[in-house]
Amino acid sequence: MRIASELLNLFNYNLGRINPKLVNEKGDMIVMYHGVTRKNQAHINKRHVTVENFDGQIAVFKKNYEIVAVSEFFDNLVKSSKPKICLTFDDGYKNNLDSALPVLRKHNASAAIYITGLAEMHYPIIWADYLDLTERHSTGRKINVLGHSFINVSGSFISESSGQSLREVIRYLSPGYEFKVALIEALGWDLKAFDKVADREVWELVTGQEIKQLASEKLITIGSHGYYHNNLGSLDAEEAKDEMIKSVQYLQQLAGKPIQTIAYPDGSYNAEVKQAAKDLGMIYQLAAEGFRDEKDLTDTIIRNRKGIYNCGRPHTQLFDIYN
Ligand SMILES: [Zn+2]
Repeated sequence: MRIASELLNLFNYNLGRINPKLVNEKGDMIVMYHGVTRKNQAHINKRHVTVENFDGQIAVFKKNYEIVAVSEFFDNLVKSSKPKICLTFDDGYKNNLDSALPVLRKHNASAAIYITGLAEMHYPIIWADYLDLTERHSTGRKINVLGHSFINVSGSFISESSGQSLREVIRYLSPGYEFKVALIEALGWDLKAFDKVADREVWELVTGQEIKQLASEKLITIGSHGYYHNNLGSLDAEEAKDEMIKSVQYLQQLAGKPIQTIAYPDGSYNAEVKQAAKDLGMIYQLAAEGFRDEKDLTDTIIRNRKGIYNCGRPHTQLFDIYN
């Protein structure tokens, strides 16, 4: 039965359509991409789809949905008999400009790109990418990060005191930027060393100049993804607010227009963070892979998103968003 439906999905996809039943059952949706890469980068992580698959997916969306900008989605500004879809990209990779934008232009599809301020920092990289590139090459290594010891077991760092993974510690226990910098320094890989283990398209972020360029595209909305990519819901309220202020100021000055939308890094937020973001003018807020609070189901300021990941064939990647 599963095989039969898989084949039907593939058949539909190859015909340039998604099973219309799936589209109609789920209705309007916001999807979350991260990157679009020239080469398949699934061996590093699953966050980037290939240009070829992305092109095919946007063609399928174009046929089955009305593709709308994030403000149009929230404000319900576009009348259409088709369900609405909003395309979003998290993290602000340079590949969004180099590889995704040409495809968006080809299909005249709008998208929102959520960017950090990390390109300004001494280590212009998102912490999860730093770990994806280094952790697997560090088996057996011990590191000390601000007094917390970790040992790498089979390619993953775990806390020697609690057994928690380093990634969990970063998300919940030590969510500040100082910890991330200390981690990068403890691991000691300089960015040039990454060229030996991965293509730059996997991790390189847009510069300030490139943010300006993206902001001038009529198809693109620029949004905040925090300044340091800290989990805002794990920070103290004041720290979370300061990070959002820094992000909005940075992006606003480059884009030359107000920043009205935020996608929470790692999908992490809470009621205070939501209110502070709203007070800063970010009235289009996005969760990721589920809300953190059931009340958000009826709060019109925040919407959920489903991620599209490089998990198998292009049709499987799309059908995953309906589960
Ligand atoms: Zn992110």
